[in-house]
Amino acid sequence: MCTITGLARILLICLFTSLSCECIAADGPRQRSILVLEEADFRSPFYSEVFAGIRAAAKQSGKGHTVIYGESLDLARFPGPDYEESLVGHLKTKYALRSIDVIVSIGVASAKFLQTRKQDIWPAAPVVYGFVPDLPETRALFLPDTTAVFARVRPTQLLIAARAIVPDLTRVVLVGDAWRNPLTYGHWKQEFAAVMPDLDVTDLSDAVLREVREQVGALPARSAILTSAMYSDGEGTYYSPASALARVAETANRPIIITSDTFLGRSGVGGFLLLPESIGREAGEVAMRILDGEVPSSIAPFGGNNVKPIFDWRQLKRWNVDEANLPPGSEVRFREPNFWTQYYWHIAIVASVVLIQGLMIAILLRERHLRFLAEVEARQRMSELAHMNRRATAGEMSASLAHELNQPLAAILINAETAQQVLQNPAPDLAEVRDILDHIRRDDQRAAAIIDRLRSFLKRDPTERREIDLNATVGEVFRFLSVQAITNDVELATEPSSSDIRVKGDKVQLQQAILNLVVNGMDAVAHLPNDRRRVVGRTRLLDGNLAVVSIADAGDGILTGKLTEIFKPFFTTKSQGMGIGLSIAHSIVEAHGGRIWAENTPSGGAVFHVSLPLAAPR
Ligand code: ADP
Repeated sequence: MCTITGLARILLICLFTSLSCECIAADGPRQRSILVLEEADFRSPFYSEVFAGIRAAAKQSGKGHTVIYGESLDLARFPGPDYEESLVGHLKTKYALRSIDVIVSIGVASAKFLQTRKQDIWPAAPVVYGFVPDLPETRALFLPDTTAVFARVRPTQLLIAARAIVPDLTRVVLVGDAWRNPLTYGHWKQEFAAVMPDLDVTDLSDAVLREVREQVGALPARSAILTSAMYSDGEGTYYSPASALARVAETANRPIIITSDTFLGRSGVGGFLLLPESIGREAGEVAMRILDGEVPSSIAPFGGNNVKPIFDWRQLKRWNVDEANLPPGSEVRFREPNFWTQYYWHIAIVASVVLIQGLMIAILLRERHLRFLAEVEARQRMSELAHMNRRATAGEMSASLAHELNQPLAAILINAETAQQVLQNPAPDLAEVRDILDHIRRDDQRAAAIIDRLRSFLKRDPTERREIDLNATVGEVFRFLSVQAITNDVELATEPSSSDIRVKGDKVQLQQAILNLVVNGMDAVAHLPNDRRRVVGRTRLLDGNLAVVSIADAGDGILTGKLTEIFKPFFTTKSQGMGIGLSIAHSIVEAHGGRIWAENTPSGGAVFHVSLPLAAPR
């Protein structure tokens, strides 16, 4: 027993210790409390947003935990002294053991209730009044040890909004029971008269909803519907203001001006709108200041920043309203994104792709243009080089040309002298003179032909493409070089194809290419014994669609490993060489769509082949 008593004592001590620990913990900073007294139902969109604002302010203050109690008085829907009496009893009982540090009273009806009932229920609690208009009548309701944050849409503000929507406004219809409340819009008559003395006003504030719906559906042009919250109609039927507005909007044929942003998006066009969240937050912030130790009477009642001109974009479109007419600082909601904003990224991506593509095309076109210019320039350079090359060749050949010209000139001289002698005869043989003159003419033509050949070889004509006889063309080159060949003691021979070969091209250019090959051949054999001093030009058909000219010599052949390098500009192994003959021949042949290549023959010597497409393939 003794043991049990000892054990029980120990347990009791433990229990006491743990309880006292709990007490100490709970004894920390005392919880602060706010009571939100709302005049209407918490569950309505407007009042629930007010409450959310108060809660947000309490949360933001960050100084310990604040309990927020909330009560809906709902006196508009439940009027009469009995309900009020029972409400007082209920609240007294409910809050008997709860101390309230500050009351936030929302709405005029709640202020009125506190004026007469607060002493009974929460005698010591200071009050912050929210959602009350700054009117002498409402200030008269304020108890001592209180302060207020005012919120009000003035009747004239509804009128201003209506005139922004209907610029030539002459008539308004008042809908909603708040128009009758002297503590809210009660002064509308005086205010309207001050702004628009001639305004035609139809007051439907005490009409039944059915009648309101009928009337607002048959309004003339230049009119607008000004709504305040409708809680009940003339028959005493109660509505939620939002659903009442929706029913009015169903039949309304003119724009509806509203007063709360909780009504926006329900067919109201907009107006100066109460912002319930701001109303709650502003009142909540003042309540927190009081909880933090400020005396309510030291905070002068002030007007909140809780009304803003806001409009529904869709309604503005419906009523054809120019946004420029809206009151300054207006906000437009529900704006439908236009094509640009809706597909901004798509458009931006497509545009950048097109832009990049365009840029690339522009760069490519420029590249092409530059390449074209470079090609033109290269062709010009090549033409100049070719001309130089021809002049150099002609220079080299000047001795043989002089020799070639000498023959006809000497013959002309001899023939002329002979003719003179014949004519000295008293009876000259005229037939012989005629014959001599014929010879002179032929020799002159020969000389002219030699000069012509040289001139056409040296001319710098732009490329001209004609169908030419390849055998004749090659033959002319060999003839042209014949005197030089004789001078250098080199034998030149041609082996034309048995059949006619015709190609399309510039005769002078092709002759120049072949001439360079023949001159190189002659150079290659110049130092060799007689039996090897020979250059042969052959023409033949290949595969029925190609013409091939081959210039072969019996020289020492091309240096090993240089078979392709020799075609590069300025490659030369000769002490006096320029190294451009083959590169010019290469360019000319390529420009004619042909190919040029060199080989060393097994018997020694080099052979250069030029293949060209036939003018008409067989
Ligand atoms: P160049 O005759 O002024 O040297 P080319 O371009 O005509 O310039 O020839 C380039 C080089 O190709 C020559 O220097 C020579 O080495 C080589 N070559 C050309 N033709 C022959 C040939 N028939 N036999 C051997 N080598 C040749």
